[in-house]
Amino acid sequence: MPYTYDDQNIFAKILRGEIPNDTVLETDHALAFRDITPQAPHHVLVIPKGPYVSFDHLAKEGSDAEIAGWTRAVGQVCQMLGVSVDSGDGYRLICNSGAHGVQEVPHLHAHILGGRHMGRMISKS
Ligand code: 5GP
Repeated sequence: MPYTYDDQNIFAKILRGEIPNDTVLETDHALAFRDITPQAPHHVLVIPKGPYVSFDHLAKEGSDAEIAGWTRAVGQVCQMLGVSVDSGDGYRLICNSGAHGVQEVPHLHAHILGGRHMGRMISKS
């Protein structure tokens, strides 16, 4: 089944400027903004500007420039937040994908969570 992108999803509306956001970084290929319901002292979402539903979608159909641009934006935000491994205490990077990944917004986003110890990776349930 082909990937289908819903251009009415909330992050598409943020990209079009229809909904405000607390921007941390904007580049040619990515936008990073603070999560509206932060789960940690630092909780930033990094999205590609292209219409990709999930990580695997970007990896399969994105251009090298889009993939590199989004990946580098994630790293840049880690540096900006002071959580990167070279100069900070680390972070957790999450891309919830699809039904089993419990993805709520169907536009690829990396959650960067940091500023506290993040505990176990996932619950067993
Ligand atoms: P998912 O479960 O899809 O990985 O996570 C979606 C995330 O988007 C959630 O953490 C939620 O708090 C965040 N979110 C949902 N709507 C908005 C919004 O309008 N603005 C911002 N900044 N974050 C949102």
